[in-house]
Amino acid sequence: MNEIDIQIEKDFSNIIMYENDCKYRNCTHASEKGCAVLEAVEKGIIMVADLKDYHKYLRNQLFLNNNIEYKKSKEKFKLKVSKHFKTLIDNQKKEVKELEEDIRVAEQEGEE
Ligand SMILES: [Zn+2]
Repeated sequence: MNEIDIQIEKDFSNIIMYENDCKYRNCTHASEKGCAVLEAVEKGIIMVADLKDYHKYLRNQLFLNNNIEYKKSKEKFKLKVSKHFKTLIDNQKKEVKELEEDIRVAEQEGEE
């Protein structure tokens, strides 16, 4: 393990921690049933943005290790970023929107 690997492992340590509890060992944390990482995302423990970065990192690792596997997995990833995952992102976007709206209303009330 080189220095870069250690750095990356540190950045995704919260995801890696949950990864061990996934039902499938080759879980991509995109749409699998029994995925502990997705469960943690739903609970708000892991941010969707972090998981997206982790997906990017996994793809990167595959690319470095095996180009053919990478091409296959790239397609797999595309398919697997499922409705479920999209819903999670939409929900977080909605929450941000609602928060922004609250701030906007609070600012307007302050001006009056
Ligand atoms: Zn998983």
